[in-house]
Amino acid sequence: MSDSPCLNCGACCATFRVSFYWGESDEVPGGLVPQRLTEQVTPHLSCMQGTNQPSPRCVALMGEVGGGVRCSIYEKRSSTCREFPFHGEDGQDSPDCQRARALHGLPPLPSNPRGPGQEPPVAA
Ligand code: SF4
Repeated sequence: MSDSPCLNCGACCATFRVSFYWGESDEVPGGLVPQRLTEQVTPHLSCMQGTNQPSPRCVALMGEVGGGVRCSIYEKRSSTCREFPFHGEDGQDSPDCQRARALHGLPPLPSNPRGPGQEPPVAA
């Protein structure tokens, strides 16, 4: 069982517009992201439903931000989610994590908490 702070956060999934090249959706052979959970942003960009609004929250995020959370499509999430520089990745702090947490009233994570090895919310 991981003790990653990401599993008790989820703020990143409820702060930013999560957009990506539309060809990542499963309407395209080889695509992974469930198309039914996306919406079109531009002719070439899609985003996760729920993230293109003033108070974003990805439709795939389960649980309560700041409580126990998980990504219901973890293995099929977009490159944007996979490449998000989460706090502690490679021993680096993440200003985006801290900003997202602050927007949700969560305290900042300790600087450079444990180095590499933390993961974003995982599917159960
Ligand atoms: S990691 Fe999962 S819940 Fe979070 S934004 Fe990506 S698809 Fe949504």
